[in-house]
Amino acid sequence: MKIILFGPPGVGKGTQAKLLVEEFHSAHISTGDLLREAVKNKTALGLKAKSFMDAGNLVPDDVVIGLIEEVLKSDEARDNFILDGFPRTLPQARALDALFEKIGIRLDSVISLEVNNEEIINRLDQRRLCRGCGRIYTIARIGADLKKCPSCGGELYQRDDDKPEPVRRRLEVYQQQTKPLIEYYRETDRLVPIDGMDEIGYVHKLVLDALYKNRI
Ligand code: AMP
Repeated sequence: MKIILFGPPGVGKGTQAKLLVEEFHSAHISTGDLLREAVKNKTALGLKAKSFMDAGNLVPDDVVIGLIEEVLKSDEARDNFILDGFPRTLPQARALDALFEKIGIRLDSVISLEVNNEEIINRLDQRRLCRGCGRIYTIARIGADLKKCPSCGGELYQRDDDKPEPVRRRLEVYQQQTKPLIEYYRETDRLVPIDGMDEIGYVHKLVLDALYKNRI
């Protein structure tokens, strides 16, 4: 299964990717996670990316394209992967298609998760992550006072870029630079729109149904 999970920030790409990984044992390739890891480890890549990420802007195309090339050429990723948060610009999408052609990969689907803006702002405001296992929670479910991950006991935190100012910028960036990719993938018949407004398990079912339907 070779999938792109597409959609605005906070739409549920990370959550759905984790469920698909359990289902298909795919490599989960999240450029956001890879960049955050690089920032945490203060690598050259992380130092380059940090200021863009903090402001809610996109990291330059050449940086993320280089990163994805490296990952997709590795054996464990090339046959079975979920791309989460990449591509986000037209040059990234074109570079990805060129890379697929070069290394002989045929993409199965671009799953486009759709929710309205009000819901996105609410979800990002409510989102908490675990520093230990990376699980994603919403405070509407676990309560705002819970500080430890119910699964592994790790510390729960809010991403700096989930705070109101960077969120506003991330949504602008999505509208201007990322949303045009819907047309790019629709034109080449690879776009599968999925209503992401429902609860997580139901959206997962919609995604699975669409993937199986597309394969047969
Ligand atoms: P995410 O975790 O996918 O919301 O990504 C967090 C941040 O990482 C984004 O706001 C960008 O600053 C950066 N980022 C992640 N993926 C990309 C990408 N494909 N292109 C450029 N910047 C990215």
